[in-house]
Amino acid sequence: MQDPRRHTPAVDAVLSDPRLATAIANHGRTRIKALVRAAVKLCREGSVVPDQVVETVLLGVPVFPGSMRPVINATGVVIHTNLGRAPLSATAIEAVRIAAGVTPLEFDLTTGGRSQRGRGALEALAGAVPQAGAVHVVNNGAGALALVASTLAGSGEIVIARGELVEIGDGFRIFELLESVGARVVAVGATNRVRLSDYADAITPETGLILKVHPSNFQITGFTSAVAVADLAPLPVPVVVDIGSGLLTPHQRFPDEPDATTMLRAGADVVTASGDKLLGGPQAGLMMGRRDLIERLRRHPLARAVRADKLTLAALEVTLTGPPTPTATALATDQSEFLERAQRIVTRLSGIGDALAVPSHGAVGGGSAPGVALPSAAVSVPVNLVDYLRRQEAHTPIVGRVEARRLLLDLIAVDPGDDELLITAVSQAFSKAAK
Ligand SMILES: *Cc1c(COP(=O)(O)O)cnc(C)c1O
Repeated sequence: MQDPRRHTPAVDAVLSDPRLATAIANHGRTRIKALVRAAVKLCREGSVVPDQVVETVLLGVPVFPGSMRPVINATGVVIHTNLGRAPLSATAIEAVRIAAGVTPLEFDLTTGGRSQRGRGALEALAGAVPQAGAVHVVNNGAGALALVASTLAGSGEIVIARGELVEIGDGFRIFELLESVGARVVAVGATNRVRLSDYADAITPETGLILKVHPSNFQITGFTSAVAVADLAPLPVPVVVDIGSGLLTPHQRFPDEPDATTMLRAGADVVTASGDKLLGGPQAGLMMGRRDLIERLRRHPLARAVRADKLTLAALEVTLTGPPTPTATALATDQSEFLERAQRIVTRLSGIGDALAVPSHGAVGGGSAPGVALPSAAVSVPVNLVDYLRRQEAHTPIVGRVEARRLLLDLIAVDPGDDELLITAVSQAFSKAAK
């Protein structure tokens, strides 16, 4: 018998096989060549027959163009930082796709001259917050704070309540951020209480601004007091409010969550916020407020270092003007609807494995509305499915939440359009776990 290894095809010969043309077009020659090399090596070692080399390569062709892949967020945390915070609406995704190509970002097609960058997004934001004299957008909430600190304080002082020296996540702290751009942070009051006189006494000729930071990811309760923006407004320095979560107007479900319009009405000179929390848009830093101050922010050299890219601007505009975001929809859905969905899913899984529809409580997450429990529902499955569901290669990975020795697949942050994917993936996980 002849040794099949002697017929191992050459790498270039395999690469030029027409069956690989689409894969090369989609993923690039370099990536596919690496797969071909690996398959040819297996052939030389005798574990793949020469006829199967191309099939072996095709099996290894990635499903997604890069390392990002879709995941189902069944954690019950609506804005999950580790899962990319707010998902965009389908319309915003389409706007991003268009903006990714050649687009008149700073070009006026009528005159052929230069135009304002991101004008559509800025107009949309100004339209959504008429209370603001002007608006500006940068890369994220932290970028907005850095720009505010550099512009309004420079190497001078920023007065902030001790109880608002927030750590925003991943070890980053707001006062360190402010000091990293050269400002000096003057903390006033006690951890739990601060008075108007604490602020007033701290103001010196060196003071650039008073900063109020919303304690967006923790709560201090008990013997507490804070000073309202309206009481700070008459002080002789600008008052900047970092609301964090990006609500532009009050939301009935989150009475304790500050919003830009209310803060501006109360006398805030500038409000800063993130775009990808409760606003439900792309990662961005929003600044809204007094026209003269926003103009100074816009013209500061650092503004160029934190400017928003065209994909962000495209998504933000449509988030503000288009259909409701997935975040808004999730937050507006009644528990009964989640329970019905959970029941439908469980009915489909009956006979396949142990699944129950249960009421549950989700959270906003992403550093927004701490302590607010959102009525939801979940599909409860055995806890041993957790790794199978998260590690799926062939199906969409599902990240759930372990509670009382069950794995809860909470539906509040699951797009109803993904319910079928979820059923398929859970069925698959049941059969794998049974082996
Ligand atoms: C989230 C948050 C930030 C940081 O915003 P990013 O967009 O994550 O940079 C700053 N301040 C507050 C109060 C926040 O909640």
